[in-house]
Amino acid sequence: MHGQMMDSQLTLTPLLERARRLFPKKEIVTKAGPGLKRFTYEQVIARVAKLAGALEKLGVRRGDRVATFAWNDERHLELYFAVPCMGAVLHPLNLRLPPDQLAYIVAHAGDRVLFVDPTLLPVIESLAPLLKSVEAFVVMGEKVPGETTLKPVYAYEDLLQGAGPEFPWPRLEENEAAAMCYTSGTTGHPKGVVYSHRSIYLHSLGLSMMDSFGLSEKDVFMPVVPMFHVLAWGTPFAAVMLGTNLVFPGPHLQPRDLAELIQAEKVTLTAGVPTLWLGLLNLLEKEHYDLSSLRGLIVGGAAAPRSMIEAFERKHRINVIHAWGMTEMSPVGTVSHLKSYQLELPESEQLGLRAKQGMPVPGVEIRAVDESGREIPWDGKAFGELQVRGPWVISSYYNDERDAESFLDGWFRTGDVVTIDVEGFVQIVDRTKDLVKSGGEWISSQDLENAIMAHPKVLEAAVIAVPHPKWQERPLACVVVKPDFKDGVTKAELLEHLHQRFDRMYVPDDIVFIDAVPRTSVGKFDKKALRATYRDYQLPE
Ligand code: ADP
Repeated sequence: MHGQMMDSQLTLTPLLERARRLFPKKEIVTKAGPGLKRFTYEQVIARVAKLAGALEKLGVRRGDRVATFAWNDERHLELYFAVPCMGAVLHPLNLRLPPDQLAYIVAHAGDRVLFVDPTLLPVIESLAPLLKSVEAFVVMGEKVPGETTLKPVYAYEDLLQGAGPEFPWPRLEENEAAAMCYTSGTTGHPKGVVYSHRSIYLHSLGLSMMDSFGLSEKDVFMPVVPMFHVLAWGTPFAAVMLGTNLVFPGPHLQPRDLAELIQAEKVTLTAGVPTLWLGLLNLLEKEHYDLSSLRGLIVGGAAAPRSMIEAFERKHRINVIHAWGMTEMSPVGTVSHLKSYQLELPESEQLGLRAKQGMPVPGVEIRAVDESGREIPWDGKAFGELQVRGPWVISSYYNDERDAESFLDGWFRTGDVVTIDVEGFVQIVDRTKDLVKSGGEWISSQDLENAIMAHPKVLEAAVIAVPHPKWQERPLACVVVKPDFKDGVTKAELLEHLHQRFDRMYVPDDIVFIDAVPRTSVGKFDKKALRATYRDYQLPE
């Protein structure tokens, strides 16, 4: 017997229409230079329809890829809806990728139109000869700068002016592609991940659950995570679905900009990678801002150090929401909220649990498998590779031959080594490639980093494996000291701090002091770069 409910297609168009009808007065704010630009949903959604008309005039058809090279702002949001709702595929490009990777990605995706922020024009101009699939460039501003070498090139506002106010949105099927992003390609070329309308729709519902981000109409949400990093973690789609006020930082991403925006716009919820929030924390130690409007600071993309969670919550009364995810998962997989009965635990135990990556969000199934292919017990001790499945998890990469290594019996292999405890809390031990393999033992670089960053004089720490003649690999800690303590920290002091917390074999063989940990294109610690720098480092005997 079959259920007898409507087989409604889960597409983004009704979500956009919902926002148009229900929330015309809600606000979208973008930081532009020293000032702010303010729009209503009504204005932005009217422009979404015009933009779709303009794209159609440009020759964009169903299934065509439309690339963006842009900051987090209201025009980018317009593209987020116009492109998928007209049946084309939104493809945000990572602004920080090296030129050869950008050219590869644009060619691989077959992007036909490329939207570029005026401040980023020089990058695209120098790449243009390599972007053979691109038939038109659009500068996201009032005018095309006279000196640009791009051809053919249009101004965003000119296109909109020439478009009619209504667009007959097509009836789409839920499994049609809506958007795509590329993974950062730590091994070989980046891989393309194609999201469907259905996956984004369901993921948006996922983000609205109280037990995940709990995004709501009542929030003022500021996505600091770039719109090119897994679609700003899917948050703009969920926010528009709900009618949430949005605050976009544009290119202004320094801790002071963010603190000022939170304070001025009374932001209630924001999201980004830990390096960003470490910067904010450091600022808050020196300057005062009223951030009391914040009900949650979502931290994901890399482990939130326990010391960071503690400092935000104890010193600044800012609640941290720790989440784990991947480009291949739209991205949210697990969120660290305590169960009701865990709220009775002593505070330090609660903190320990919250520093884990948490429970899978409803809709995501998990298992962890050891090297012999057996599922590990959920005892918080056994290690295994985390594997996931669910309606917003990838089923295959876009036009790629490398699927075999990533999928197993209908599960996606994350490449993250984890433990899962009896409560179902996942803890990421490490990325497989970041583990330090020392004499047959695995040492978690993340555990060491968390412990080092808990030292009051340390700003940032990254632990990497360095080749070792006897042990195969040994850990080396690369440490950035807080500016106020520049000459006041010794290796011995930090090593002693670690000896108090770890068995001898886990303690790094050496510590190097560096000025800053290099960042990846999405702002995480770039351990690949550090490994290259210290490949021949001579560890002390
Ligand atoms: P990139 O390769 O550019 O980092 P992703 O953003 O897709 O691309 O990275 C996903 C990976 O980031 C995960 O597989 C995991 O290793 C790491 N990660 C994400 N969130 C967390 C978290 N909360 N704690 C630890 N690691 C995380």
